[in-house]
Amino acid sequence: MRPTSKTLRIAAGLIFATASAGSAAQAASDAARDAERTLRAGDSALQVSVIGVDDARRRAQLQDWLAEVAQAQLTAFGRYPLHSARVRIEQVAREAARDDESPVPWGQTLRRGDTAVLLFVRDDATPAELRADWTAIHELSHLFHPYMGRDGRWLSEGLASYYQNVLRARAGLLTPERAWELLDAGFGRGRRESSGAPLVELSRTHEGTMRVYWAGAAFWLQADVALRRDHATSLDAVLSKYSDCCLSGTGETAPAKFIAELDRLSGTKVFSSNYARLVQSRAFPPLDAVYRELGIMRRGDALAFDEGAESAALRRSIMRGAAEPAPAR
Ligand SMILES: [Zn+2]
Repeated sequence: MRPTSKTLRIAAGLIFATASAGSAAQAASDAARDAERTLRAGDSALQVSVIGVDDARRRAQLQDWLAEVAQAQLTAFGRYPLHSARVRIEQVAREAARDDESPVPWGQTLRRGDTAVLLFVRDDATPAELRADWTAIHELSHLFHPYMGRDGRWLSEGLASYYQNVLRARAGLLTPERAWELLDAGFGRGRRESSGAPLVELSRTHEGTMRVYWAGAAFWLQADVALRRDHATSLDAVLSKYSDCCLSGTGETAPAKFIAELDRLSGTKVFSSNYARLVQSRAFPPLDAVYRELGIMRRGDALAFDEGAESAALRRSIMRGAAEPAPAR
């Protein structure tokens, strides 16, 4: 979910407003070209619907945009995490989203009956603006994990916040350097949350959003680095195994159970040891060690990147995806 509370209020209204109009519009547009496309990868499929858009050119534009984002999702492990899932794209008039300049003012993943990603796109958002936005890949990244309830929000929002940058870099939608800068900026926002409350409590009570999202992202970055550095595997590879054996798009899995499965599938204690350290943490986790491993340095307000062999290889392996072998040590 996008972490903007004012958008939440708009979107709640939108969902109600479109619920009744949506079914009539859907019937009318079902026969129309590009109202629906099915994207396939191996035995997995994403069914993408554009709802209530009369202009065929715009429908094609929105479908092409989503197809590119879905392609970015495939850089994790070559297929969609769920055997089948739906994406619904609706448009919002600029006036309805006037306090949110984002091209995609609202996105959400629903897990009732089946799994659906809802995306509300501003009707005047250009293809270039849509390509530059992170909401769609954030929501698609939520399909990699099971629903973990409120206690697991920091893990689920963290995974989506990590992958929204990593997967876009791999797909060429961002440069790797820009992806690191965006992650670093997110960590900065998380660090500024200073309530001193335990992470799991913020997660449960929907407070301290920036620490919930970005301490969560830091958790997955730390895990990914440890897996690649010490265990010749990666977060992508472990989530691929999880998708094969265990992932359900609906229902609820306890956070500790998900973490235990990831340990088992990786043959490591990387996930549970990081989890134990972070779940009750009252401040943002220190990232100095992981930045050193990755060869990321701060130069004033900017980041600099060490091109030394080991750190550069580790850093590039993350932003280049599963096809790249992890650097051996
Ligand atoms: Zn989210």
